[in-house]
Amino acid sequence: MSIVVKNVTKIYGKQYALNNVSFEIKKGEVVGFLGPNGAGKSTMMKIITCFLPPTSGDVSVCGLDIWNDSLELRKKVGYLSEANPLYYDMYVREFLEFIAGVHHLKNVGAEVDRVIKMTGLELEQHKKIGALSRGYKQRVGIAQAIIHNPEVLILDEPTTGLDPNQLVEIRNLIKQYGKNKTVLLSTHIMQEVEAVCDRVIIINHGNIVADTTIDKLPRDSASLENLFHELTQK
Ligand code: ADP
Ligand code: MG
Repeated sequence: MSIVVKNVTKIYGKQYALNNVSFEIKKGEVVGFLGPNGAGKSTMMKIITCFLPPTSGDVSVCGLDIWNDSLELRKKVGYLSEANPLYYDMYVREFLEFIAGVHHLKNVGAEVDRVIKMTGLELEQHKKIGALSRGYKQRVGIAQAIIHNPEVLILDEPTTGLDPNQLVEIRNLIKQYGKNKTVLLSTHIMQEVEAVCDRVIIINHGNIVADTTIDKLPRDSASLENLFHELTQK
């Protein structure tokens, strides 16, 4: 198993952001994590990537446990957070070289070349990050997430705020990466899941309400609202 989440609860103050959540993701799956704003998607992703401890429960990634093996676990995981924090004053290539250094990669130049090519940043690599469009900033965010060739890629709303062309390009990029690796991506767009994922886990108010393959989704599930309606009628 690439990701195992077992009975995870996260309480902020008195609020349950996650309520006894469990799921497993196999190696090579591309899974959509779908839910409305405030459902608990980002919280779950921060827990899987060891940025936040759960209140209770267990998570492992590639057999490594968040409580005992967090340093090793982080090496297996690439993460694009919701905020996509980037150093706007750095040049694209300089930033990626810096991240490669953080991961102690050996052939920094070659690895940076590889991700620049994969993410289509060839023409932007000598620009300052702050000067890039939102779509290209997202590409830099994805490039830093995959530079160490992680087994598991966690992308928190990677296409939010992109224009339709950029959207297609980023989705293709995710699909490409998902051919050999495990990907979990969050979104509140139903069509995104259909375009990119094999499987969907749906969360609402911190509870998993569905976990199914795309072909088994209710027929009238064009929108998230319709889907929730269908699911709660059963
Ligand atoms: P999503 O990513 O699905 O929009 P989040 O995981 O960001 O959802 O948030 C889940 C719930 O937890 C929301 O109600 C949110 O307001 C709350 N929450 C998230 N982070 C914090 C925090 N640091 N402190 C208090 N409440 C938080
Ligand atoms: Mg979020």
